[in-house]
Amino acid sequence: MSDIISLASRVTQIAPSPTLAVNAKAKALKAAGEDILNFSVGEPDFDTPLHICEAGKKAIDDGHTRYTAVPGIPELREAVANRFREDHGWEYSPEQIQVCCGGKHGLYNIFQAVIDPGDEVLIPAPYWVSYPPMVQLAGGTPVIVPLDEKDDFDLNPDILADYATDRTKAILVNSPSNPTGSLLSASALEAIGRMALEKGWLVITDDIYDTITYLDGDLPHILDVDSRLKDQTVVLNGVSKSFAMTGWRIGYSAGPDHIIKAMNKIQSQSTSNPSAPAQYAALAALTGPQDFPATMQEAFVPRRDFFVQDLRSIKGVSCVNPKGAFYVFPNFSSYYGKSFQGKTITDSVSLSDYFLDQAKVASVPGIAFGADDFIRFSFATSMEIIQEGMQRIRDALAQLS
Ligand SMILES: *Cc1c(COP(=O)(O)O)cnc(C)c1O
Repeated sequence: MSDIISLASRVTQIAPSPTLAVNAKAKALKAAGEDILNFSVGEPDFDTPLHICEAGKKAIDDGHTRYTAVPGIPELREAVANRFREDHGWEYSPEQIQVCCGGKHGLYNIFQAVIDPGDEVLIPAPYWVSYPPMVQLAGGTPVIVPLDEKDDFDLNPDILADYATDRTKAILVNSPSNPTGSLLSASALEAIGRMALEKGWLVITDDIYDTITYLDGDLPHILDVDSRLKDQTVVLNGVSKSFAMTGWRIGYSAGPDHIIKAMNKIQSQSTSNPSAPAQYAALAALTGPQDFPATMQEAFVPRRDFFVQDLRSIKGVSCVNPKGAFYVFPNFSSYYGKSFQGKTITDSVSLSDYFLDQAKVASVPGIAFGADDFIRFSFATSMEIIQEGMQRIRDALAQLS
């Protein structure tokens, strides 16, 4: 039977989020009784801190159960502006802040507000899964700028000009990056900033992992390159990763007045305000004790160290040491072409499937991030599970010939 109602072409050109799909498959297998170790999850394995949960509950008891202002309650926009000032020295007025339904929604609003059909957006790859489809949903064209594992996935400034055209409207910066955990160096950011100033590009900087880094010094930021960049940059952040609040769905953006105003227009005609109780919980997160991200970061360090060292000890596997976030992104391409029981591993999808079937280990194929030589594993899970998972992966790889 054919469907009576045809779908919009904007839907048929995109696929559902592959990371959420793998996670759903792993959860279903687990629910069916399979002993699955799940490394596909893109969220901290910590509970939201108690004082934040209490603030959310109190908001309901206090009657904060109605519509709020579209860009978020004034106290929360003020708190975001204060955090930006205290943590980075950036001056934003509360009117230059939009609170939205998660960081992903903030990015969606940005693209809807600035992208016209035919506009190109430079996206360094490996990239976060949702950037290209969100650009496409806005009618724009994603232009992929390749990053090299040999450069620790830093941007080679010399190649940037090769991907710029007259239609380039914006460039995405995601440092620390999901999936690589890599950072953009100060010199790469300098090159991006200079070119953005020269060509009038919008810089969209997705800073969602900026509190989870493994650096001694400060994280370099595009806004440190030149103060003028603030007039053509939108900063995207949120509480999902930094305060283990993925399910609360609160993100925020800061940028030039006219862009935030346009994003508010989009939000007013789509979701209206983000959930009121969740906004009060986020307010408690941003105004309360700020030590929680560091607590998570400390827990992640030994897991990261073990994961990277163990992966590197497998013949034919390379793995960049992540400097932020909670993912490792090893290169398994030397195993492509090998087989087990008549089934040949040809790419990241077939290898990830093999890991799931043979090792009961759930991972995300690198092709989801535009990098087919790699597989993403999250280390937002216990050391015991990482050790057991690595043993299973090692055994599964050893069976390939
Ligand atoms: C998790 C994530 C986001 C935003 O997540 P939300 O749950 O929507 O707040 C944005 N960018 C990257 C790279 C992420 O990994």
